[in-house]
Amino acid sequence: MILIDGKATAATIKAEIKEEVEKIVAQGGKRPHLAAVLVGHDGGSETYVKNKVLACEACGFKSTLLRYEEDITEEELLSCVSRLNLDNDIDGFIVQLPLPKHIDEQKVIEAIDYRKDVDGFHPINVGRVAIGLPAFISATPKGILELLRRYNVETSGKKCVILGRSNIVGKPMSQLMMQKGVDATVTVCHSRSKTLKEECRQADIIIAAIGKPGFVTADMVKPGAAIIDVGTTRVPDASRKSGFRLSGDVDFENVAPLCSYITPVPGGVGPMTICMLMQNTLAAGQKLYY
Ligand code: NAP
Repeated sequence: MILIDGKATAATIKAEIKEEVEKIVAQGGKRPHLAAVLVGHDGGSETYVKNKVLACEACGFKSTLLRYEEDITEEELLSCVSRLNLDNDIDGFIVQLPLPKHIDEQKVIEAIDYRKDVDGFHPINVGRVAIGLPAFISATPKGILELLRRYNVETSGKKCVILGRSNIVGKPMSQLMMQKGVDATVTVCHSRSKTLKEECRQADIIIAAIGKPGFVTADMVKPGAAIIDVGTTRVPDASRKSGFRLSGDVDFENVAPLCSYITPVPGGVGPMTICMLMQNTLAAGQKLYY
């Protein structure tokens, strides 16, 4: 069994990005600039945004953090998005989700100029990815594909079962796995799937993104399968200073001995996600897609 080290891979990629940025700057080009909009004080969102700012520093990017209180109106947030769309110094920006309930998230996503949508959530980017055109790809699935590539996990002609059909992980993941060059045969399972276990048992690759700790058990895994665990659920743990630990969707202890490859939680998919946001920002700065 090979443990896929997302932390080390992400560090390598960030170093590659930094090298590229310094080359661009040395040639008189512009240092990429990412802005992040954070609404409210949700603990998870604060951590994600802090880590994104730190990743910008590691990659040699400029970063700007815009903070708003929980009671910001939808109109105010939309005018912030308009300002960022028009700001020529900002190459790409993200609005950290989730947003407070009184704000329509989809409206905000669609207000972002797709050429600056480094999260890859705008319908134009989603659609372009679906038909195989260059575009900003949602960071988590992009990071998973990068891990599969860097670890030479065979995908061509393989049966890949994706657990979960969310817009940010499951759906884009299925598009990427079936695209030409990756060439997997893809099955997507969700909460209404009746044959989920049987599908998993036949899979060469399982990508679990449902948010249910330990859901994928050893009896669901074919010996030699590659397992990618996207799940990150906070479970109470009194032995930790934080009071919780992160748990994946896979029963790691019992599944790991069976597989060819597996990602740990934490340290697998998670670190790759922010790193892919950095790659998207570099691409935005270079006007690579638009
Ligand atoms: P989500 O929007 O809540 O979607 C969960 C999906 O799982 C849905 O499609 C749901 O089916 C399906 N599901 C739920 N319970 C199920 C069950 N018992 N059997 C089969 N399918 C079931 O979640 P998400 O945003 O995609 O995130 C999934 C997990 O990945 C979470 O733990 C999240 O924290 C983690 N995540 C990690 C990263 C990272 O960077 N590491 C990034 C994003 C997400 P229905 O559609 O039928 O409801």
